[in-house]
Amino acid sequence: MTLSVGSDPPRAGARPVVLAATSGTGKTTIARALVNENDDFVFSISATTRDPRPGEEDGIDYHFVDEPTFRRMIEAGEMAEWAEVHGRLYGTPRAELDRAVAAGIHSVLDIDVQGAAQIRLAVEDALLLFVLPPSAEAMMNRLGLRGTEDREQIARRLRSALEELARVGEFDGVVVNAELDPTIDEIRRIARGLVAPTPPSREADRVAQLRADLADVLTSHFT
Ligand code: 5GP
Repeated sequence: MTLSVGSDPPRAGARPVVLAATSGTGKTTIARALVNENDDFVFSISATTRDPRPGEEDGIDYHFVDEPTFRRMIEAGEMAEWAEVHGRLYGTPRAELDRAVAAGIHSVLDIDVQGAAQIRLAVEDALLLFVLPPSAEAMMNRLGLRGTEDREQIARRLRSALEELARVGEFDGVVVNAELDPTIDEIRRIARGLVAPTPPSREADRVAQLRADLADVLTSHFT
């Protein structure tokens, strides 16, 4: 396989890259762009029991399965990790990770914080990155723009965000998604071992501010 590595020097060993974030951070856009623009990154297609959104395709965005099928996959040991997120089941099939290892490239996992913690235990060399929105305002704008969810779903996502932000310290690094291209570049360079990730402690103030702002939004608009 020919790898397009741009002007970067040869990459370090391929490792799974886990991207976790709160809803409304642009994580899925980042994961997709990373994979589309670089031959040494492949998207790990999760299985889920939630319904497809308009435009989503089975086998591309997710493996859409029913709950008995999902449970059978867990029992057969086919899931590297799984979690219930917003009332639905999501999991990373081991086959997705094996595919990347066999090809010697980075798998990109767009998963939640609970899943990231399981990958930490299951995959020794995984790189765990938490993607932060630049501000609560940017995050609310993005959630509103998606337009696929009602108020109760948005409130649920905000409550999850508060819990997820409390666990940023468990990650190898944080990336602030202020602008898409620099964010993708930063993640690519971290994964290739060219730069060290920013430690979570360095963004502790931003995380505290985000949590305070989101708590305010929940109290003032969703109670
Ligand atoms: P959505 O329904 O918006 O596509 O995803 C909801 C949440 O589930 C997101 O945080 C997404 O990253 C997470 N998610 C997607 N796939 C997986 C997976 O395989 N495992 C886990 N643990 N979470 C996932």
